Amino acid sequence: MKACLLHSPARVETNPLEFTALPDPVVQGDQVLVRVAACGVCRTDLHVVEGELPPRKLPVIPGHQVVGRIERVGAEVSRLRVGDRVGIPWLHRTCGVCDYCRAGKENLCDNPTFTGYIVDGGYAEYTIAPEKFVYPISEALADEQAAPLLCAGIIGFRSLRLSGIEAGGRLGLYGFGAAAHLAIQVARHWNVSVYAMTRDARHQKLALEMGAVWAGGTVAEPPAKLDAAIIFAPAGEIVPAALKALKKGGTVALGGIHMSPIPPLDYNLLYHERVLRSVANNTRQDGEDFLRLAAEIPIHTEIEVFPLRDANRALNSLKNDAIRGAAVLRVE
Ligand SMILES: [Zn+2]
Ligand SMILES: [Zn+2]
Repeated sequence: MKACLLHSPARVETNPLEFTALPDPVVQGDQVLVRVAACGVCRTDLHVVEGELPPRKLPVIPGHQVVGRIERVGAEVSRLRVGDRVGIPWLHRTCGVCDYCRAGKENLCDNPTFTGYIVDGGYAEYTIAPEKFVYPISEALADEQAAPLLCAGIIGFRSLRLSGIEAGGRLGLYGFGAAAHLAIQVARHWNVSVYAMTRDARHQKLALEMGAVWAGGTVAEPPAKLDAAIIFAPAGEIVPAALKALKKGGTVALGGIHMSPIPPLDYNLLYHERVLRSVANNTRQDGEDFLRLAAEIPIHTEIEVFPLRDANRALNSLKNDAIRGAAVLRVE
């Protein structure tokens, strides 16, 4: 098969992914072999490729927003069949026995496996995943439209939940890339007013087109105090600005897996029971709930499509804020 392989982390400007031929993966046990149709490009892929996340497997095939059809199944597979259309997310497998898994908090599992990081992912013609961790994908959604839902969508949804935002409330979104452009659609469905703070003028424009009541620069002060905020941009210096924009008792949720250092905080910014919390991975329940809601709304994905062989170019565009909505690799 053809795949994009990372031999060792490096700045994306050096085009570190090699488009190359590799043996097809072999299914075992509870795994399904998926012929990849499309794979979303996530900011986490950028952190893997550039080494902000310490390498766990090298070489590795990145990519954890996979949509495709099952072409082969392992001997223990019982729920899915050859020909089924499925999505493969970041949460590749959990241990099932640690305290967190047993308490229904599998997103915090002590021994998780992550797609496109600890095992090979979807920047490839084929990839494998355990059947219990893949999602059926509605035939109503095109491959490229569905792919960004699998991480940007699900993590955005979990971030909304953890932010505690309620119907009629005011929500701040810091950074307006793939996750935010999906989260705003859920927020508006819940009758929430959205304020978008993002450095790129094109992203501010997209936010307004998608129904934000106001858009401004990254640390601009929104014209009304916020009930909750989500920071999707990986920049720690946004944290004080977001806390400053927040009402008493409000929550700032941090939606990314990596963030630059958070500067010292004046306690007044946090006092009055404001909450600062991170969002880590997601449970399968989050994924199922979000995909159902996405079909119900229905969510529309803004995408920019690149051929698989151009994964380096897609990552460079993402790094330069040049993507409107989500970048997706199409596998021919
Ligand atoms: Zn576990
Ligand atoms: Zn992701």
